[in-house]
Amino acid sequence: MKIKRYKKVQKCMEFYTNNFGFRKPYQILVDGTFCFEALQNKINISDNIPRYLQSEIKFLTTSCVIIEMENLDRKVRGAVVILKKFAVHKCGHEKKAIPGSKCLLSMLGKANENHYIIATQDRDLENNVRLIPGVPLLYLHMKTPVLEHPSEISVLNAKKKLSGIGIAEKTALDQLKQANGVLEEEMNVRKKKKRRGPNPLSCKKKKTNTQQPSIRKKEGLPEKEKRKRKKLRISKHVKEELIKNTMQPSTN
Ligand SMILES: [Zn+2]
Repeated sequence: MKIKRYKKVQKCMEFYTNNFGFRKPYQILVDGTFCFEALQNKINISDNIPRYLQSEIKFLTTSCVIIEMENLDRKVRGAVVILKKFAVHKCGHEKKAIPGSKCLLSMLGKANENHYIIATQDRDLENNVRLIPGVPLLYLHMKTPVLEHPSEISVLNAKKKLSGIGIAEKTALDQLKQANGVLEEEMNVRKKKKRRGPNPLSCKKKKTNTQQPSIRKKEGLPEKEKRKRKKLRISKHVKEELIKNTMQPSTN
């Protein structure tokens, strides 16, 4: 198998592992059409598929699938033989068999909770499988097994799950914090920090501001200051007069 194909399958199964809880060994629900196609192309399912998915595989089928194939033409007898090699999963239709495709769909339910991979060549079944989130679809293209890219619904569902878990976890955490009074404390700490903490950036700015005036003083101000002082200087005789005037009331 080419490396590109190997990586593609690996990535695909990683998607189902991460988003839908798939674990090795994978379980594959096989129908009659898949076995028939494999036989036509002389493919050994038990050898080929585990190699393709790089995993040990549990091959499963149902009594409904077997009964349906047994009732078909003699040409499919070989496929029935292959089907019977697989484990027969209880499907709940033991008393009265239903069409194979309907049986497999009932095994998937609404969310494929048992993490089955569906192996089929039945186009109608494929279309129905694509509408259920989290169901890997496996089919044969001539002699080559193909694991289909996750369906639109699977991808959407995975995205929803991710965002949903994020929100749910946050609200749960907030509720827990609120119950323990941690949330209020956190809020208070935040408020206090705002009041107390001087912004380090604003401190820096102040430093540069204080430097600038000092530079100004050195360069430009001295002359003006001197002038001001000159203007305010009081001559000696006026000073003496002022002192006399202020002293007189106190002596009397
Ligand atoms: Zn059944």
